[in-house]
Amino acid sequence: MMKSIQMVDLQSQYQKIKDKIDKAVIEVIESAQFINGPAVKQFSENLSTYLSVKNVIPCANGTDALQIAMMALNLQPGDEVILPAFTYVATAEVIALLKLKPVLVDVNPETFLIDISKIEPAITSKTKAIVPVHLFGQCADMEQIMAIAAKHHLYVIEDTAQAIGADYTFNDGKKMKAGTIGTIGATSFFPSKNLGCMGDGGAMFTNDDELAKRLKMMANHGQSVQYQHDEIGVNSRLDTIQAAILNIKLNYLDDYAKSRNEVADFYDNALIGLTNIKIPKRVPHSNHVFHQYTLKVKNNDRDELRKFLAEKNIPSMVYYPIPLHFQKAYKTEKELPITEDLCKHVISLPISTEMDKEQLTYIVSNVIEFCNK
Ligand SMILES: *Cc1c(COP(=O)(O)O)cnc(C)c1O
Repeated sequence: MMKSIQMVDLQSQYQKIKDKIDKAVIEVIESAQFINGPAVKQFSENLSTYLSVKNVIPCANGTDALQIAMMALNLQPGDEVILPAFTYVATAEVIALLKLKPVLVDVNPETFLIDISKIEPAITSKTKAIVPVHLFGQCADMEQIMAIAAKHHLYVIEDTAQAIGADYTFNDGKKMKAGTIGTIGATSFFPSKNLGCMGDGGAMFTNDDELAKRLKMMANHGQSVQYQHDEIGVNSRLDTIQAAILNIKLNYLDDYAKSRNEVADFYDNALIGLTNIKIPKRVPHSNHVFHQYTLKVKNNDRDELRKFLAEKNIPSMVYYPIPLHFQKAYKTEKELPITEDLCKHVISLPISTEMDKEQLTYIVSNVIEFCNK
């Protein structure tokens, strides 16, 4: 019998490394060093080596990572921050929470990434930062974003929650990991992310040592010396148990990306000929780590396709169904037609690290059947 299909199959992933994970978790429990135990520092060091970035500052989740980044940069109420409109709410939420102004710009309809040509027109004298989102697992065009940021003296905070491990290639051939190019990178270790823990987790990256100290201080109640609070911070820590789990899973991150690419290649090859759906475009300047495999469905058939697949026990998801500027909390009058259009037409198919040929064949044959109806 075919293994049941899930959007993300975390049980199968765990089964493959169960002995190592169980041992690591029990070690932490026996040591009782639940907060800031040795695994937290080890993981920070291991991740910093993997990413070739000088500083990794762990925290409690990806949303906190974005928030603490903006706090450490001393952004002030009223400052404007440019971000893509087609993203997860967290990116805009922390900006608004800090009383900064989220300035939404549209995305490229093929790549789903921030439209570079829309950034400069959105810059005003109040603009302080750009937050590119490496959506679905490939990098925004960082070379151009960094050039715009340098020209206008802006910070760049990379939201790399969906693209940890992806490589960005500059025009001269130099490669850097997603999240290590801007002023600060912010990521999430939410269980379904490409490097997921077994609870909540997040981290910030920077090559700037002074900034690293500020990030650490802000994540720790604004104190750099115990019981001395120079600024208002937050309490945001990565649990030792989660760090111990991540220490093991980091060793598999490249294999996980490979498995995800095999799934994506399978989908691409099977679905490329269909006229009513569009396979995801791969950008030339980044490899893809396929956090999501996202199709565009023509006409208004997206919801019908979802229903058709659900009847065959094939889960699917819509990332994201409602544009940020249509949400009650983030309403603006601005028109962002590409984002509005994508929200009506995108669908993400199951993708995870342990999918087998039988499942994939079943999924694509059903997508094809729907398209040929
Ligand atoms: C998951 C995600 C976040 C938030 O991460 P959490 O760990 O859930 O707080 C932020 N931005 C993007 C693009 C994400 O996908």
